Amino acid sequence: MNTPTAFSTFDLHTHSWYSDGHYSPSELVDRAKAQGIRVLALTDHDTTAGIREARDACQTSSIRLIPGVEVSVTWEKKTIHVIGLGIDPDEEHLQSTLSAMGLIRESRAEEMGQRLARQGISGVFEDARKIAGVGMVTRTHFAKVLAARGHALDVRDVFGRFLTPGKPGYVSTTWAPLEEAVASIRRAGGCAVIAHPLRYRLTRTWLRRLAGEFREMGGQGIEVLSGQPSPGDMQSMRDFAIREQLRGSCGSDFHGPDEGWPKLGRVPLMPAGIEPVWSDWPDVDGLA
Ligand code: AMP
Ligand code: MN
Ligand code: MN
Ligand code: MN
Repeated sequence: MNTPTAFSTFDLHTHSWYSDGHYSPSELVDRAKAQGIRVLALTDHDTTAGIREARDACQTSSIRLIPGVEVSVTWEKKTIHVIGLGIDPDEEHLQSTLSAMGLIRESRAEEMGQRLARQGISGVFEDARKIAGVGMVTRTHFAKVLAARGHALDVRDVFGRFLTPGKPGYVSTTWAPLEEAVASIRRAGGCAVIAHPLRYRLTRTWLRRLAGEFREMGGQGIEVLSGQPSPGDMQSMRDFAIREQLRGSCGSDFHGPDEGWPKLGRVPLMPAGIEPVWSDWPDVDGLA
């Protein structure tokens, strides 16, 4: 695989410890700056709690912060992630959607703990809740606890053994409807973007259905570049976005320094011929 020599100055998909990221929002901003990022979106899972700190950190830095969120959605019984970019984090409808998600996450986590306890592994919910701290509790927290206790080789291995469908710690969950996620993002003034489209393992027919319905509902963009994509994936998502009349977004989906995770800011340049999500954002012209 070719390693790109030039990287985008935009990273529009990152996590802090307000969800399952490793760093605080201000540490994330510092690291983004060191990586040459000029426009950074903080997109924690189902929460905007880190935006204020990220904004404060950007005031003393040359980085432009795009307030964001990654909303968990259930569409056709599948879990899909929708990114909101440029949202007003104080908008009340968005916040009511997100607080419902917080409750779903807490009760799912308790149930995951109970399932694991029935397998003889007790106290995992309590430990996961503790390391999640002020943030949303996610499967990543469970994976860290189980890996630290030696139940698997590493976090990725825990997912395969415990936290995916059919495995003992997995709890099937109904997240926000697609329409509600898109509407909440739009009402909060944001641009709705389908996150990491190739990670859902949808056939092209299903992906087209998703993109078509998403656009009808007011969705505007799709991640053409997610993580460290192969040249083939980039080309195929570029063509897909153009065909589906969606704008292109790009983001690392950075979570932390662990081996095997995408690196902050190491996102290839947006391919030619595609309209980027930021084409109508004020004051970002010189930053690409
Ligand atoms: P949740 O939203 O609580 O279901 O957690 C989903 C998060 O778990 C994703 O955002 C990823 O950060 C992480 N994740 C999902 N699948 C894997 C995997 N196979 N290996 C490592 N992390 C994963
Ligand atoms: Mn995550
Ligand atoms: Mn995601
Ligand atoms: Mn993400």
